[in-house]
Amino acid sequence: MARINENYLKLPQNYLFTEIARRVKIFQSENPNAEIIKLGIGDVTQPLPKVCLDAMNKAVAEMGNAETFRGYGPEQGYLFLREKIAEWNYKKRGLNVSAEEIFISDGSKCDCGNIQEIFSLDSKIAVADPVYPVYLDSNIMAGRTEIIYLPCTAENNFSPAPPAEKVDLIYLCSPNNPTGTTLDKAALANWIDYAKKNDAVILYDAAYAAYISEENIPRSIYEVDGARDVAIEFRSFSKTAGFTGTRCGYVVIPENLCGTTSSGEKIPLKNLWLRRQSTKFNGTAYIIQRGAAAIYSDEGQAQIKTLIDYYMINAKIIRAGLTAAGFTVYGGINAPYIWLKTPNNLSSWNFFDELLKKYKIVGTPGAGFGSCGEGFFRLTSFGSRENTLAAMERLKN
Ligand code: PLP
Repeated sequence: MARINENYLKLPQNYLFTEIARRVKIFQSENPNAEIIKLGIGDVTQPLPKVCLDAMNKAVAEMGNAETFRGYGPEQGYLFLREKIAEWNYKKRGLNVSAEEIFISDGSKCDCGNIQEIFSLDSKIAVADPVYPVYLDSNIMAGRTEIIYLPCTAENNFSPAPPAEKVDLIYLCSPNNPTGTTLDKAALANWIDYAKKNDAVILYDAAYAAYISEENIPRSIYEVDGARDVAIEFRSFSKTAGFTGTRCGYVVIPENLCGTTSSGEKIPLKNLWLRRQSTKFNGTAYIIQRGAAAIYSDEGQAQIKTLIDYYMINAKIIRAGLTAAGFTVYGGINAPYIWLKTPNNLSSWNFFDELLKKYKIVGTPGAGFGSCGEGFFRLTSFGSRENTLAAMERLKN
């Protein structure tokens, strides 16, 4: 019989959202008339921008014509999209990132989960706690055991400090899921300094960069001096343009960013990632890449702004509603997530049950994102306006 990868057995048995769905299902079957409002899962609810639909429709027509039909595309992604990303997300903001340093994918989850493959199995990892579970789980699956947790608490403004010991890989996420908080330039400069001193690589997840509204918060880690020497950046069209079901994201790996072999030889990480992608990935669909590229025009930018503003008004409504109901809230200013302290020191799962039973509102228990998430709870602003307002009305009453 084939032996399994036993590292999978070290993962938590129940995926967080499966357990939430189980509890909601039981409640709904016991209370069939209850109108439950779901502000739990981080998935968007508004339709795709028109510019994306138009571009995808045009691309569909191209696929039906022998002259313009496309088969396998470049593993790194089409140049038309990589050039637009380099221009609009980096050059226009004064940042030096070229199309050759961008790798298109079918979303950030795969990129964040797969990137660890190009690093040694004995790498020591640092992850924030609480955190998006993919960073940790993908390293556990690979068999890495040296994992340092970086507590993110109200006391440190949910901005993790570098550890005393040396680590090789550091996962940072800003704006953060689940806390909805961001890392400022000083915090990132501190991490870049740490990475340089310790020969570490920062894996910077900026999936929610488009939600940053405050001018002094960096949208990209490359806004901070020295980042190109130590950091890989992940971005996604999922929350930027409603692509959660459409699927497109990308990774930036600067030309000169290197890792070392056991004998100390420096190897560009970009070459390893290209090798990995061309072996295991056959590119994101042409139609989807055309749709993604459409956000890079004045009209496209206006349409995604309307989408993001919609969710951020929801975030404002949630923040105001929770504050008025006496909760202590964090996040929700530069991110679509609101992180609240559970009242009366309730555990986050007990609070989940109470919110569901008394108010018929579903959120996400903070403990599901790491031990420092205990005593906290996440609500998302991705619901419809109607549901967001109705949820806050219930809490008020
Ligand atoms: N990174 C973070 C922090 C996320 O919260 C998510 C999705 O929720 C992702 C990455 C993955 O996004 P996608 O795979 O849809 O691009």
